[in-house]
Amino acid sequence: MNAKRRTLRIIALSPFMLYSAASLPARQIPPAEVLKAGYRKRLAALLGKKVLPYIDVESSCNPTRLDIDSLASSMDDLDIGLMAMSADISGGQFDRGVRYDPLSARLVGKYPDRFIPVGNGGVPPAWRKDPEGFLGQNERQARDGNFLLMGEFEFRHYPSPRQVKRGEDRDETVPIDGEIGHRIFHLSEATGLPFQIHYEIEDGLLPPLEKMLAAYPKARVIWCHLAQIRYIERAKTYSPAYVEGMIRKFPNLYFDTAFGGPDSVYPLSGQRHARVWADDGGLRTDWVELLVAYPQRFLAALDLGGDRMGRIREWDANHRNFLRRLPAETQHHVAYRSAWKLLFGEDFA
Ligand SMILES: [Zn+2]
Repeated sequence: MNAKRRTLRIIALSPFMLYSAASLPARQIPPAEVLKAGYRKRLAALLGKKVLPYIDVESSCNPTRLDIDSLASSMDDLDIGLMAMSADISGGQFDRGVRYDPLSARLVGKYPDRFIPVGNGGVPPAWRKDPEGFLGQNERQARDGNFLLMGEFEFRHYPSPRQVKRGEDRDETVPIDGEIGHRIFHLSEATGLPFQIHYEIEDGLLPPLEKMLAAYPKARVIWCHLAQIRYIERAKTYSPAYVEGMIRKFPNLYFDTAFGGPDSVYPLSGQRHARVWADDGGLRTDWVELLVAYPQRFLAALDLGGDRMGRIREWDANHRNFLRRLPAETQHHVAYRSAWKLLFGEDFA
């Protein structure tokens, strides 16, 4: 077989060639325009059923354990529009030398109308033990066009409530203005890709974040978990007014709305850490006013994780309990319009 015919044969065997012949083998997903058409159709179909679909911009899993079909069918059952499900490389994968898991390509390959291709989560062990390996691979994939989104990167992460229950002593600090932070902010500016950060709300952590946002004005940052304050005594500065100030100062800053319900208590402080809620179980009016004033900056998110994948129904109910308390117009923005605009640079139509 001559070289040309051999190439044609490889092309014929590859499902990705349908979409992106020029960039093989680096490019593993269909072009954004192809994905967008499928996403639009799915969201429109759900809207046609008179339900509120949402785009979950922040969920993650152990990619070796994810049951893709079961997740897809739960999304149908629950009228979830789209989901950015990132792979958190497991300890076993890390030990085998894995520094990047192409879960997104698998998800999009199987269900291209509902999964948003996203990079791997910045979580231990890879994030801490081999940041160079982790970042290098994610940077390459990002530049090859395999993502629409990146993260969630854990710059400051207290143990989650479930980790506390399991007795895990995990506490992450990666300085956001250190080398890793600079690489990620730079990558976002260079590629135009938004990225998610997990960054606990503490007075002392706010100036370094503001410094980075000012230094990289084109970086598109999603600060996950709006108003999730684990220790109120450490966060005297943060308030709806503070967030509004940041929104006005930083045009490429977004917030996702993954947080617990009104009764959710952070076990290490004993405090109700989802601060958007009022004592009566409704939303605080100052937070609602902020969301109504700047709906395009707030994004729906479930924050499913490897240790709670089977609880999607509960997580969906909690998120919808939040969404339904917003004025109708704001609901539609937060649920899917804001993410659409962020991902595709145009209004959902
Ligand atoms: Zn998080």
